[in-house]
Amino acid sequence: MRAVDIIRRKRDGLALDDAEIEAFAHGVTAREWPDYQASALLMAICLRGMTPAETDCLTRAMVQSGERLDLSDIPGPKVDKHSTGGVGDKTSLILAPLAATCGVIVPKMSGRSLGHSGGTLDKLEAIPGFRVGLSLAEFRAALRKVGCALIGQTQEIAPADKILYALRDVTATVESIPLITASILSKKIAEGIEALVLDVKCGKGAFMKSPSDARALAEALVRTGNDNGVRTEVFLTAMDQPLGRAVGNALEVREAIATLRGEGPADLTELSVTLAARMVRLGGLVKDAASAEQAVRSALASGRGLEKFRAIVEQQGGDPRTLDDPSRLPRARDQLIVRAERMGYVGDIHAEQVGRATMMLGAGRDRVEDTIDPAVGAIILAHRGEEVRAGDGLVEVHYNADAKLAEALAMLRQAWAIAEEPPTPESIVIESLGT
Ligand code: URA
Repeated sequence: MRAVDIIRRKRDGLALDDAEIEAFAHGVTAREWPDYQASALLMAICLRGMTPAETDCLTRAMVQSGERLDLSDIPGPKVDKHSTGGVGDKTSLILAPLAATCGVIVPKMSGRSLGHSGGTLDKLEAIPGFRVGLSLAEFRAALRKVGCALIGQTQEIAPADKILYALRDVTATVESIPLITASILSKKIAEGIEALVLDVKCGKGAFMKSPSDARALAEALVRTGNDNGVRTEVFLTAMDQPLGRAVGNALEVREAIATLRGEGPADLTELSVTLAARMVRLGGLVKDAASAEQAVRSALASGRGLEKFRAIVEQQGGDPRTLDDPSRLPRARDQLIVRAERMGYVGDIHAEQVGRATMMLGAGRDRVEDTIDPAVGAIILAHRGEEVRAGDGLVEVHYNADAKLAEALAMLRQAWAIAEEPPTPESIVIESLGT
């Protein structure tokens, strides 16, 4: 089967059969397909789309490009959560210990920041000593002992995705519903989970800017996950504003710890509880949604969630003293406040611009190989709906280098819209699918 014939068929808008899709996934993994042919097919898929059957097959083929973990020897339901990426989204650090406290086994493989969106691994690595690069044997041992482990994608898991994602990133082929579906789900299915809660972000700071695109992605994820034997449910959530008040790795860890102490911002707390409760319910540990929420709220209020986070940090080599004394986290040398130029109400805060500005300061990476500065970022002082007077602080910028500071500040200044009237309140959860 020649690569050029497969590319031509997709270019002409035809559906590929299983053998063609398997040849593609295998050819990419074995490095038999050169990058130019793999990229040409990715672009054809991006432009022509895929049927549900093709998306299913691509997902399966990408799972089969590596190992599918069998965690059946570890007692308890294995449930994970995945977010399509946003700004200030540190929910994984909060919901993973909360769900684990309620009896869910959380084998969490996460990603790194890219572009304006943050990554759980970078946030965790802001904790001195924390190791995200556990071997599969260490991962299993941590799950057995603590009930949760937070690590990076290992070499064994969906290697086809690693190669394809790197190509998509540089060929403008990330924004394709079948490719995103196969990419996310191949990694999650290979993790050995039974159920998955997905947080599909929608809005100015998300991949999917419009509710209709976000819904289409959510539907593809629910269908493909369930077809592959993973009970999958999706929340569509708003990502117009950053989530919580902290953006930047150490600052987000600090906010996650505060949230586990019951002192977090309302939007972050609500979303973390909602997602954790759905994990508990999907794990079959309670009789209904209300009991799941009650279990999670009690784990939060009693401090058991925080203690579970301490156990995770200790198990993965991190310094647990950071939980009691967050000043042990990396701190930026300088701080500066961007102030309101006029009075009014904070309308929208453009999440993508906040993400891009903090990335310029060093909190994120433009390219996969860039290094990040864990200490830098921003704390939102005036959130959506809050009243400000001229001169009040909008955002506190934490920085170490001056090189791109002026550009970042200009971007942050533009990110805040100040209006005469307060904006209509918006709920963080737009809808849920798959229930
Ligand atoms: N996250 C992934 O893991 N893959 C995509 O394609 C997009 C977001």
